[in-house]
Amino acid sequence: MQSRAEAETVIAEARKSHERLRQAVDLLPQGIVILDPEGRYVLWNKQYAEIYSKTADLFQEGARLEDTLRVGVARGDYPEAAGHEEEWIAARLKKLYEPGKRHEQTLSDGRVILIEERRTDDGGVVGLRVDITELKQREASFRLLFDGNPVPMIVCALDDERILGVNDAAIAHYGYSRAEFERLKIRSLQAFDSEPPWTDRSGEEQAGRTWKHVKADGALIDLAIYSRELTYHERPAVLLALMDITERKRAEARLTFMAQHDGLTGLPNRNKLRQAMDEMLVHTRRSAEKVAVLMLGLDNFKSVNDTLGHAVGDKLLRGVAKRLRSTLREEDALARLNSDEFAVVQSGLTRPEDAVMLAKRLLEAIADPYLLDGHSVVIGASIGIAMAPGDGDESEKLLKSAGMALSRAKLDARGSFAFFEAALDAKAQSRRKIEVELRDAIQNDVLRPYYQPLIDLSSGRITGFEALVRWPHAERGMVSPAEFIPVAEETGLINPLGGLMLRRACLDAATWPDDVRVAVNLSPLQFRSGNLLSMVTDALKHSGLPPRRLELEITETLLLEKSAQVLATLHALRALGVRISMDDFGTGYSSLSYLRSFPFDKIKIDQSFVRDLGANREAQAIIRSIVSLGRGLGVIITAEGVETEAELSCLRTEGCDEGQGFLFSKARPNAEIIGLLAAQRGIDAADEDAALVA
Ligand code: C2E
Ligand code: MG
Ligand code: MG
Repeated sequence: MQSRAEAETVIAEARKSHERLRQAVDLLPQGIVILDPEGRYVLWNKQYAEIYSKTADLFQEGARLEDTLRVGVARGDYPEAAGHEEEWIAARLKKLYEPGKRHEQTLSDGRVILIEERRTDDGGVVGLRVDITELKQREASFRLLFDGNPVPMIVCALDDERILGVNDAAIAHYGYSRAEFERLKIRSLQAFDSEPPWTDRSGEEQAGRTWKHVKADGALIDLAIYSRELTYHERPAVLLALMDITERKRAEARLTFMAQHDGLTGLPNRNKLRQAMDEMLVHTRRSAEKVAVLMLGLDNFKSVNDTLGHAVGDKLLRGVAKRLRSTLREEDALARLNSDEFAVVQSGLTRPEDAVMLAKRLLEAIADPYLLDGHSVVIGASIGIAMAPGDGDESEKLLKSAGMALSRAKLDARGSFAFFEAALDAKAQSRRKIEVELRDAIQNDVLRPYYQPLIDLSSGRITGFEALVRWPHAERGMVSPAEFIPVAEETGLINPLGGLMLRRACLDAATWPDDVRVAVNLSPLQFRSGNLLSMVTDALKHSGLPPRRLELEITETLLLEKSAQVLATLHALRALGVRISMDDFGTGYSSLSYLRSFPFDKIKIDQSFVRDLGANREAQAIIRSIVSLGRGLGVIITAEGVETEAELSCLRTEGCDEGQGFLFSKARPNAEIIGLLAAQRGIDAADEDAALVA
């Protein structure tokens, strides 16, 4: 039998240990509750009271949980129970006595509590409560981001690559249902099994790599995949974001194609051809084989465009491209270089004759008539050929050589072909050198007019001087205009050159006696520049030279085109009072007809007719008829290139008005002209004295 005191000690001990237990459980982060077998509260900690803060005032040792719930329900602590209070309480209690199971409870304030209960040995219950609100929120926002994302996303297991989840965008994009997806492994979406299923497990972006997937309907798509590892339903998994870049890739491919092809014929362009050529050339460097570049230019393509229209012109080009392609072997490259030029690169030949055979076949293929929009169109072509390695071992050089050969072929005879010759290149290079140096010479004002006198054949007096450009060159001495005028015309330098000559000639002539004229040569190209008229008026104004003392020499080629603009300019010049001479008469195609198109003041018979005078009677007959023509038209006739007394006396006999030539004087610098004119004045003065004496 225990004494009362003993019993009290035991009770006090029990209280103490209960109190210790309570303090201990208060330290735990989870909520803890202990119920006895009848469902009465034995112990609960602070966290438990905090979780159920609304009803915490009802917790009492010995109070039944069921009663507490009932009071809580009655006073509206559990709005979710409203209307079916008893059922709600029963369900709660049932869960309470389903030990070992976890379940979630959502409180009326939105918090989510994870509940885990276990039976104690005496038939009571220990319950754990964990607030998982934050975790739930995170999960929910993940779901929101995942499910609602417009980018297709797939989650798949790291270990077996099985698809664990997909979002709506993935379902829409791939055309598989969610259930179908979840039966697949990520690899079964891939077009090529060799690819790893994700870019990089570290989640870093890998530039430049794309993946090909197959959609449910079999269509291939290009993807850029971004991946990140995560835990999904407690499994190590990978989240894949799949950006469809099929369209972008297609657009890129289109752009690349367009950058390398000609839009009209679909043939490779110059860039693409050069790539192909460089590859061929690398290959042949290691063998004895040669490569031929055939550059083909259509003859008179412009006139097809002009007469039949661009639509027909375009069709013709496509037709030509087609015929060229079908004449070639698969391995020969064909490209369109510009509007009417194509290039063929033929590899694997051993002799130039192989290229000749191909050139002939190509010319034949093109020559047959084309039926275009009801027109039968015939077009010819010329071909220039360059061979590697002889004419260059680099694509650009070879194309240039073939281009030079083409210009040559066109000059020879349309419809022919020509091989590149090193001499052509040398000529082209010397032209380039002249161009560079001439530009310098113009800029540094090195060019000077020299003056050659024109002599009145009946009186022997100087009527004027022709200004002839001279280029004193540091290394080459005086360079002939015959050498650089054509280059100046090709490069447009003729305009500054012509302007410079005109200004200087007018300035010089203004210092000469009033009855002495100056003649300046004009190139046909100066008429195209559009400012010739103002150039002439400016030169006259600036120098103060009266217009009647200026003669402009033009050649027959200017009138070849019979352009209204040229004639208008000529008339305007003449209206200023300037005189117009026809230079080198007789060398053109239809010299006489040109005389009809404009009222010239002077005709200069080309020196080739004068040269023949002594030896040949026809030449004399020609001079005679030109002189009588001049009489009829009231035009002065000048003979150029008079070198001998015999020529001079013959010209006098025929009644030619003027002469110019080495017999009288070569062209001289202005300083010497002044002397010449002074001497002439001396003679004049002597004549006058003689007349006075007589
Ligand atoms: P052109 O206008 O017919 O000039 C006459 C050419 O014949 C000059 O050659 C002159 O030196 C040359 N000549 C004169 N007398 C004789 C002779 O008795 N025998 C021979 N064999 N030749 C003679 P140049 O100075 O070499 O000029 C050649 C051509 O260059 C000129 O032919 C002219 O078409 C052109 N030219 C010269 N200066 C200019 C210029 O300033 N502007 C333009 N646009 N062309 C010019
Ligand atoms: Mg002349
Ligand atoms: Mg002449």
